[in-house]
Amino acid sequence: MDSIWINAPAKINIGLDVLRRREDGYHEVKMIMQSIRLFDRLTLTKTSEPGIQLHTNLRFLPVNEDNLVYRSAKLLMDEFGIQEGVDIRLDKRIPVAAGMAGGSTDAASCMLAMNDLFELGLSKRSLMKRGVTLGADIPYCILKGTALSEGIGEKLSTIPETPDCYVLIAKPSFHVSTKFVYTNLVLDEHTEHPDIDGMIQSMKKNDLTGLCQQMANILETVTIPAHPEIADIKRCMMENGALGSLMSGSGPTVFGIFDDLDKAAFAKEKCRSLPYKCFVFVTDLYR
Ligand code: ATP
Repeated sequence: MDSIWINAPAKINIGLDVLRRREDGYHEVKMIMQSIRLFDRLTLTKTSEPGIQLHTNLRFLPVNEDNLVYRSAKLLMDEFGIQEGVDIRLDKRIPVAAGMAGGSTDAASCMLAMNDLFELGLSKRSLMKRGVTLGADIPYCILKGTALSEGIGEKLSTIPETPDCYVLIAKPSFHVSTKFVYTNLVLDEHTEHPDIDGMIQSMKKNDLTGLCQQMANILETVTIPAHPEIADIKRCMMENGALGSLMSGSGPTVFGIFDDLDKAAFAKEKCRSLPYKCFVFVTDLYR
């Protein structure tokens, strides 16, 4: 085998809580992660010339060590002393810096593909151990599906699946700095924390409506006051048939959960006609 391709799914956060700020500056989180059918595509081809060649359809993305794909390929090439080279084509469809773990899922998929292409024989668990050295979300992106993520994001456990549904994604064109959001997050005795365990209970009962009523993301308390458009998009989804709507990660992506494809498509058009530019997309869960 000289060439291999792999789809790298985006994620949304069905629930996101930050428990505390650690002494080392990291945050302890409790998040429900869910993969969706919105993919980047990576194609890896062995080359006789040594080294890593990375190409992407997005001109503004780095193609050197600043790209997580490059770094994840290099990590395995160095450790296993791979003498041949690899050409990596990265076709991005997941919006960049959107709270959908685009870079992390690319890195995770690159590691999975390198493992197969160069027959490294590593288990998922050992890839996850290596992945976390590059980013806290990479282990989850190797695992995929529905998971509870704790610690700094590296402690993963399986939880009941999110009930079947349609997902409307709306990504406004402005950028949100993750650093800004975490720096400005206030955690004190007045902070209302999302009920992540309650959400898991609803998932156990396959209760989509109950789950949607509980969905919450503590980072909205910072991102929404800075970007009130996010509240508008959520409102637009809720007024047009969503069972629930939430910001994903630190934003600015907003998603809506629907039990009916036509309703999701209708709400998509409504979100498209909001007065600011939004990338809108209807999809479903990736199991
Ligand atoms: P998260 O949800 O994990 O916070 P995100 O979806 O908000 O991540 P990314 O799309 O991963 O953010 O991009 C964040 C930054 O990482 C970008 O500014 C980009 O330059 C850099 N980056 C490095 N590698 C990649 C990649 N393969 N795809 C996208 N961005 C990348």
